[in-house]
Amino acid sequence: MRVTILGCTGGVAANLRTTCLMLDDDILVDVGTGAGDLTLAEMLRINTVFLTHSHLDHAGLLPMVADMVGPRRERPLTVYALAETIAILKQDMFNFRLWPDYTALPSPDNPYVVFRPVTVGQSVESSGRMITPLPARHAVPGVGYQLDSGKASFVFSGDTTYHEPFWNTLNSISNLRFLMIETTFLNHNVVGAEASGHMRPELLAQGLKQLNKPVRLLITHMEPGNEDATMAEIQAAAGEFKPERLKRGQIFEF
Ligand SMILES: [Zn+2]
Ligand SMILES: [Zn+2]
Repeated sequence: MRVTILGCTGGVAANLRTTCLMLDDDILVDVGTGAGDLTLAEMLRINTVFLTHSHLDHAGLLPMVADMVGPRRERPLTVYALAETIAILKQDMFNFRLWPDYTALPSPDNPYVVFRPVTVGQSVESSGRMITPLPARHAVPGVGYQLDSGKASFVFSGDTTYHEPFWNTLNSISNLRFLMIETTFLNHNVVGAEASGHMRPELLAQGLKQLNKPVRLLITHMEPGNEDATMAEIQAAAGEFKPERLKRGQIFEF
């Protein structure tokens, strides 16, 4: 399996793209603004999308990707997400006001987009690749994902603050190799992190200390402009885990 990082920032500006991972050449995990860098040919190879949650920095380009590929595809784009996330997207996004309802167009029998609900802990198998939703705690319902090739696993936290079940689950993944985890806020922003369900370096360190196995630690979703300060705080709190600042364009094979 190959993960390509198309976007990994906590906001937009020139050269910054929000969350989007490409798994091999046919699956996207989240559809933030990073998806907009795919060529049309690359976009047409995407058959499946897994969403961590409904926020626009993770799902905002889904309507426009559906618009691009829908008329050019034989079959619908399959989008996996929590049932709560699907309900939000149908009510607030694919509602004929913000965007056409591509779950019913061009026809209910053969729409551009088909939603499929996922449940934490229940794996979805795609050509031998296992994708498993993981528990998360965010301002809206959300999940992380374990991407398991059989040889090794790449875990993406999605957006989450400290959540003990997430760390317990990591300990149960025997072939864990990569942990891509958000650290949105600096330590002083206790109130903001709690209210919005995001991580701070101290909370990340709290979780990492529960981890009973080595992992390559990839930091994502930092606030634009605060990346160096955030990495310095992570280094101070959890330097023994050798945190790396994730960069757009990085590729991980496992
Ligand atoms: Zn979010
Ligand atoms: Zn986010």
